[in-house]
Amino acid sequence: MLRIGDVRVHHVEEWQGTFLPPSEFFVGYDEATFRSFAPGLTPQYYRDDADSIYAFLQSWILEVDGIRVLYDTGAGNAKERPGIPIFGSLDTPFLTRMAAAGFAPDDIDIVICSHLHIDHVGWNTQLHAGRWVPTFPHARHLFSAIERDYWDPEGQGARPTAAGAFVNTNVFEDSVQPLLDAGIVELVGEGYRVSESITLRLGPGHTPGHLVMDVRSAGDSALFVADILHHPAQVYCPDWNSPFCEDQPQARLTRRRVLEDAADRSALVVPAHFGGVHCCRVRRHGDAFEPVFAMP
Ligand SMILES: [Zn+2]
Repeated sequence: MLRIGDVRVHHVEEWQGTFLPPSEFFVGYDEATFRSFAPGLTPQYYRDDADSIYAFLQSWILEVDGIRVLYDTGAGNAKERPGIPIFGSLDTPFLTRMAAAGFAPDDIDIVICSHLHIDHVGWNTQLHAGRWVPTFPHARHLFSAIERDYWDPEGQGARPTAAGAFVNTNVFEDSVQPLLDAGIVELVGEGYRVSESITLRLGPGHTPGHLVMDVRSAGDSALFVADILHHPAQVYCPDWNSPFCEDQPQARLTRRRVLEDAADRSALVVPAHFGGVHCCRVRRHGDAFEPVFAMP
């Protein structure tokens, strides 16, 4: 468990493993540059023997201001995922791990999906008698309105020319629409106040309505940045995108802005997919940054 001021933060793992070689994962990749910091990232974030980045799918539960907030819901079980088969037909004990952390689905008051990609909305629903039904039926689910409009089957993100169209096949239908149908979604935007300690910030680029969760409590702060930062290599090289970033120039601008903000206020940075201790602080290094992995 982490603490951010008075906020208690619980980590729930869904999946971990090798994913892609860095040369395929990073847009703008440079081998010599990667090799300069790779030893410090091995093996928690990079596996030399497989030449692959090492990644997690994970969620965070915050006990804050008298409520319980779940940030991001992984890939989910039993979903058909032709776009990224490695995240399809999963059968993980995610809910058992949540219970081990002390939380049943009905304990969650608010679910926040940073964005509506395949690996951030999965546990929104589970299969029950052949239908996808909400896993957290008593929770209010917060998505960005921009994101909902973009990934709707009629929206731009679903068009074949969009970067994530194939990757996100079936995702809106089985993990978002059932919540809209149940009337448990609140569409939000920049500056939305979740509680006294939590404000949502728009961080567009990876997807157009990507939300950063800004947590401030008792003089400490944390930025839950989800996929603005997939891997520690992007702290050293903030101009390296992933191929899954919808708007590549905007993704670079947002990553730099968020890292500058984190460095300036010594905020804990909590991305969606980091291995190791799953979070870091960052400090400026030349015109880029470097991660500091000590637990808070
Ligand atoms: Zn992701």
